[in-house]
Amino acid sequence: MIKIEPSILDIDASKLNFKKIEKYVERVHIDVVPKGKYTPTAVKRIRTELEKDVHLMILDVEKNIIPYKNAGASIINFNVMSENVIEKIKKIRKAGMKVGLAINPETHVNVLLPFIKKIDEVLVMSVHPGKGGQRFINISSKIKKIKQMNPDVLIKVDGGIKESTLRKIKNADVAIIGSYIFNKKKPIEVIKKLSLKHVANNVRKDIIKMINKASSGHPGGALGMADVFTTLYFDELKYDVNNVKWDKRDYLVLSNGHICTALYSCLARVGFFSRSELEGFRKTGRMLEGHPSVHIPGIENGSGPLGIGLSQAAGMALGSSNRVFCVVSDGEQDEGNNWEAVMLAAKYKLGNLITIMDRNKIQLSGNTKEVMELKNLKKKYLTFGWNVRSINGNNLKQIKKSLQYKGKKPLMIIANTTPGKGVSFMEGKYEWHGKAPNDKEAMKALEELDESR
Ligand SMILES: [Mg+2]
Repeated sequence: MIKIEPSILDIDASKLNFKKIEKYVERVHIDVVPKGKYTPTAVKRIRTELEKDVHLMILDVEKNIIPYKNAGASIINFNVMSENVIEKIKKIRKAGMKVGLAINPETHVNVLLPFIKKIDEVLVMSVHPGKGGQRFINISSKIKKIKQMNPDVLIKVDGGIKESTLRKIKNADVAIIGSYIFNKKKPIEVIKKLSLKHVANNVRKDIIKMINKASSGHPGGALGMADVFTTLYFDELKYDVNNVKWDKRDYLVLSNGHICTALYSCLARVGFFSRSELEGFRKTGRMLEGHPSVHIPGIENGSGPLGIGLSQAAGMALGSSNRVFCVVSDGEQDEGNNWEAVMLAAKYKLGNLITIMDRNKIQLSGNTKEVMELKNLKKKYLTFGWNVRSINGNNLKQIKKSLQYKGKKPLMIIANTTPGKGVSFMEGKYEWHGKAPNDKEAMKALEELDESR
């Protein structure tokens, strides 16, 4: 999974909203050029939780290591063709920082050979270093060779990357992007668009870690719905983490509360509470219970008993003009009271009620087809007076599009998902509906998620 790393060569960092950027990416790339903007003092002034990844394109690398460390940098990159490479590597390590070697487009990868096991990262330049806005030079064969030399080294590509060229560097780990983001009117929208897939992957990793640590929980549905929750919280819902009861907010009602790990991960990552809370999932005395409760910031409804969420959501939609999003499962369609809410929502023409059904074809004790056959759900909801959209619930574009709705009837989005999505041995298996991965399984799952492209 390629990560996006925004790069700020000519940008005035004081004008950037780092709090927003932090939701989508983990690092910021800072180019240090002779007479450039980013002196150690200027780097120190950048207040952010992002890792500061500094590329020293100046002659005196050694003298600048400690000043940039003191400015908060945790990674130093310098050119592989410079002198005394080993000494510089040692000095950066001694300062407790990560080392990256930069390689220019015209330099042969073999020059990395003496150092490749001694460094953490390689910065592959896909333009000639220095100026922003240059044309991308294809370096895909170089990435391949570096991976062969050391599969553990992190490969970053820098220069001329945009949405269309991202495909050419799929084997790299990080795409450093500057001009393409910051020349746009709304840089945060570009960052969001390029990073959403990676955010969903992080949510999946949280789900695995939380359930493994608690030794109980429901990974199947949560992994399958990670893309839906990511789109909702990182791209669609209106909310204010500093004012959780803001009266103009969108409501999110989770009916199948057992998949709450996906929701908790999103709530933590957008800032409703600290990410350290995730470690206390299902632990006595901690905030994040095994099923959502209204004591948790950002949670609108208690849930656990299945089939009641849609009634809660319909009540909210009837009582306010705010948008109400409700997540239900396909297994919940077996519950009678679900259909009472379906009729009520149709009767009162609740156009502000948008329901997303996790159509993953499994439930606790088996496949939905065997437990209680649901047949044509689209037809059923249409007959009950709803609008219906059918989508691939693991496709971010389709999810986003389906949520754009202005209608006079309630909307049912049937999101066809793969339960266990992203973890090969969990995908499509109802056995993982409510089973925690042990340490070995969790490690394998996390490896797969890290490698997914
Ligand atoms: Mg299901």
